[in-house]
This record gives sequence, structure tokens and C-alpha cells, in this order.
Amino acid sequence: EEPKVEIKEEIKNVSFKKPLLLPIGQIHNTYIICQGEDGMYLIDQHAANERINYEKFDKELNSKINVIEPLIPYMINLSTSDVMKLTEERLELLNRIGLEVELFGSNTLKVRKMPLFIKELDEGTYIEELLNQVIFKDKVDLSILRKHVISTMACKASIKAHDKLSIREMEDLINTLFECDNPTCCPHGRPTIIHFSKY
Ligand code: ZN
Ligand code: ZN
Repeated sequence: EEPKVEIKEEIKNVSFKKPLLLPIGQIHNTYIICQGEDGMYLIDQHAANERINYEKFDKELNSKINVIEPLIPYMINLSTSDVMKLTEERLELLNRIGLEVELFGSNTLKVRKMPLFIKELDEGTYIEELLNQVIFKDKVDLSILRKHVISTMACKASIKAHDKLSIREMEDLINTLFECDNPTCCPHGRPTIIHFSKY
């Protein structure tokens, strides 16, 4: 499990170019070793996959098309005190993170629309994570909430440490990582890649 890290503003690594990388194998089925033009690179497979998923989910959330309306709406029961905390303002906040909800009866929340990427994950976990943030925090900031939720989901959807990968899978992971806007760290700020020069 990942330690809780304060979410910091990301620094865009505009000058970072994709090095020529030849994957050699994995250490502990956790780090990918690559040979580059100048030395060796170690890639944290989980952090790399998390970065890829984070940017993918972030883009999907920006697009209104990537929303699904389940045939059977997802229902959650809440306590009366939790329902009281769900003000119009907070429901609107959920809406802006792709979750269209309405109160159904006095203690049930009906989820009518949700982001498409939830299909790849466990919808209950996503919805509960969001509700927890919105109900139990005194102050909720949309951008922080959005980042927290997407990072959490990216973490859950990613390959883990100790997952065995084929060379082909390593190549795909590396190529997709370097298509990202910010390939050098995961959304929690951990490095995805470390370079050791020949020297
Ligand atoms: Zn993670
Ligand atoms: Zn991370």
C-alpha cells in the first residue's frame, strides 16, 4: 500500500524527452530495468501505470460524452445525518466530477450518471470514495477532490508491484508512459523512472 502523501502541484516536465529504452526484465516483478543510450533506467511499474491511468481518467472526466447512464441506477443508503450534509452545493460538486445523483426517498441516494471509466473499476468503491470526501470534509475544493478521486482510482486500476510482465507488456507500458503530459512521476508525486548514467 502506498503511504499517504500530500498532493502537491505538479511541475510540468516539458523538457523531458523519451530516452531510447530497451527493457531487459523485472526486479522482484516490481521494477523494470531498461538499457538506454546512456546507462540504465529503472521504472516503477505501478507508478508508471498509475500516471497513465491518471491522465486517461482525467481526460475522460473532461469530456461530457464519457458518461454512462446505468440501466439500473446505483442506490446507496445513507444515514439521516449524512443526508443533511449533502447540500445542493455539494451535490453540484459531485455532478462536476461526473456523478449525477439525486435523493430518492429520505435516506437513499440514486446515482443516475457516472463517468465511463468506472466500468473498468468497482463502481461502489468510486462512489463511496467520492461521497466520503464530500460528506465528511468541512470544506471541499473541487480541484483537490477531483485530483484525489482520480488518483485513487488510477491506483486501483493499475498493475501492482509483484505482477509479472512480459517484455511486450513492458514495452507497451513504457511507450504509453512517454505519451503522458507528465511522465516522470505518479499522481502522488513518486518518481516513475530513475536514471543511472554509465559513469
Ligand atoms: Zn498506487
Ligand atoms: Zn502513486
